[in-house]
Amino acid sequence: MEFIFFYTRFNGLLILLTLCSLCNFIQSPIETISLNYLKATSMAFGSPLNFHESTSTASVDFGRFIFNIPSAVFRPKSSGDIAILLSFLSASSSTTISVAARGAGHSIHGQAQAPDGIVIEMDSLPSTIQIHKSMDGEEGFSYADVSGGALWVELLEEGLKLGLAPRSWTDYLYLSIGGTLSNAGISGQTFKYGPQINNVLQLEVVTGKGEIVTCSPTRSAELFYAVLGGLGQFGIITKARILLQDAPQHVKWVRALYDDFKTFTEDQELLISQPEKVDYVEGFIVLNENSLHSSSMVFPDQLNFIPELQKNTSKVYYCIEFAVHEHKAEEINTEQVVEEITSKLRFLPSHMYSAKVSYYDFLNRVRMEEMSLREKGLWEVPHPWLNMFVPKSGIEEFKDLLLQSISKQDFEGPILLYPLLHDKWDMNTSVVLPELSPAAAGKAEERVIYVVGLLQSANPGRCTAACVSDLLKRQRHVAEIAAGNRIGAKQYLGRQPSPAQWRKHFGSKWDRFADRKSRFDPLGVLAPGQGIFVRTPSSSSFIQ
Ligand code: FAD
Repeated sequence: MEFIFFYTRFNGLLILLTLCSLCNFIQSPIETISLNYLKATSMAFGSPLNFHESTSTASVDFGRFIFNIPSAVFRPKSSGDIAILLSFLSASSSTTISVAARGAGHSIHGQAQAPDGIVIEMDSLPSTIQIHKSMDGEEGFSYADVSGGALWVELLEEGLKLGLAPRSWTDYLYLSIGGTLSNAGISGQTFKYGPQINNVLQLEVVTGKGEIVTCSPTRSAELFYAVLGGLGQFGIITKARILLQDAPQHVKWVRALYDDFKTFTEDQELLISQPEKVDYVEGFIVLNENSLHSSSMVFPDQLNFIPELQKNTSKVYYCIEFAVHEHKAEEINTEQVVEEITSKLRFLPSHMYSAKVSYYDFLNRVRMEEMSLREKGLWEVPHPWLNMFVPKSGIEEFKDLLLQSISKQDFEGPILLYPLLHDKWDMNTSVVLPELSPAAAGKAEERVIYVVGLLQSANPGRCTAACVSDLLKRQRHVAEIAAGNRIGAKQYLGRQPSPAQWRKHFGSKWDRFADRKSRFDPLGVLAPGQGIFVRTPSSSSFIQ
């Protein structure tokens, strides 16, 4: 007999589920008992308490403007624990309790929260990382089997011990494997290897019905593709098999400044057309001095850049960032490669900066910014962020629209803008990208999509709750115009304001998404914080 405990707000009492793990059914569904009684009971069983008394972390995320208190926080020790909970909830005819997996809680709009439901803290699963290194002459790939609650930085550290690393990253590594795979996971390597969801070989998933399924492109493929980019709607990722490659030792990291948007984007596109030389491409808009200061610790020379930034003009600059990997085993002169690449770029004369850093430091670069912001008390502040995928045809119009909506002098935080290639994305997954015009079919250069990330920090000293709410309203306005036919953009990592808006967002992909939901989580138990489906009791039919 196994006991699983979790704490609930209901009347300040605790729910104790008494579960029989051997026969996998619930013996005695729910008993309410006091906290002290539970503690005493668990002590009597000699097992550590497996529940949380505080729900404060589960009610907040990186956005810091949406707060939903769950009824309970659950800290599973295995996939089986999650399966028992979800089987129980989907079998109970009266309950409408919903469940959200919480990875690192770095969502912006409450996506990992469960208003009055149960938050499963994925970091409680044992953080196992097993690396399989493919030997010379052996068929197959190197890969890592990793728990869904582990962080990408943990995988990097473990992989590097054997000279291996994943191919595709996010800019920040303190995000969970399951959390980014539920979105897409993009960064400067996406143009070359596709998003993180394209670099997964197999998953273990607990569906909304409580079934534990191992899935891959050849085994339970529909669930595999549903879950990738699936916004947590179909199942909880408890394990993932991530493709690895040989890790470089160093990275030559280059930045170059521009004062013309067209030249900037044309050069970015030139860079992504050379995957055999270039390993990473990003870029950002330089609005004011802060845009450079916040990300220039490795590039101190850049800080002397262009006095116009100090003046109150509307002039805006752009910065390309690219990188070339350096492998000990290869006899490639990276200095020379960088020279060849930069010789074709049209940046502002003498405004090219480079640095050689370890691969680990390069990938972990945002951590440095985090530490510096934490010191100033500016990390745990509201983050009204807007991320959009914009077709190449609309990128200039979108950039103008975005800049009109913000205050150039006061803006704090980076505005990322860089190209990706549509063809590197597997559209069997649940992710939503802009629909390309028929004119783009067959023309590789037209199949470019830009990602634009308005990663704004609201300094509480200057921006109060009303100001944050105003910023969010303006962003909603921008997102709605951009989603119209003229620009045809799609939001990434966003939360649509209503189920109807979600349908619009999915467009032609909606029917497949809803069909997958009815197969894998028919009662709508999972990820209520996304606001896509309504939870229904098991006795009623599925509501879209
Ligand atoms: P959470 O916020 O905990 O969860 C996100 C969603 O996934 C929720 O709906 C949750 O219920 C669900 N979920 C969580 N774990 C699981 C699981 N195991 N199985 C199923 N569903 C699950 N994104 C990029 O693509 N590229 C970037 O470069 C990038 N940089 C970022 C930098 C910072 C500083 C921050 C804060 C975010 C960044 N993001 C980036 C966004 C990030 O990828 C998403 O917010 C992601 O969801 C965060 O992972 P998490 O573990 O915090 O997820």
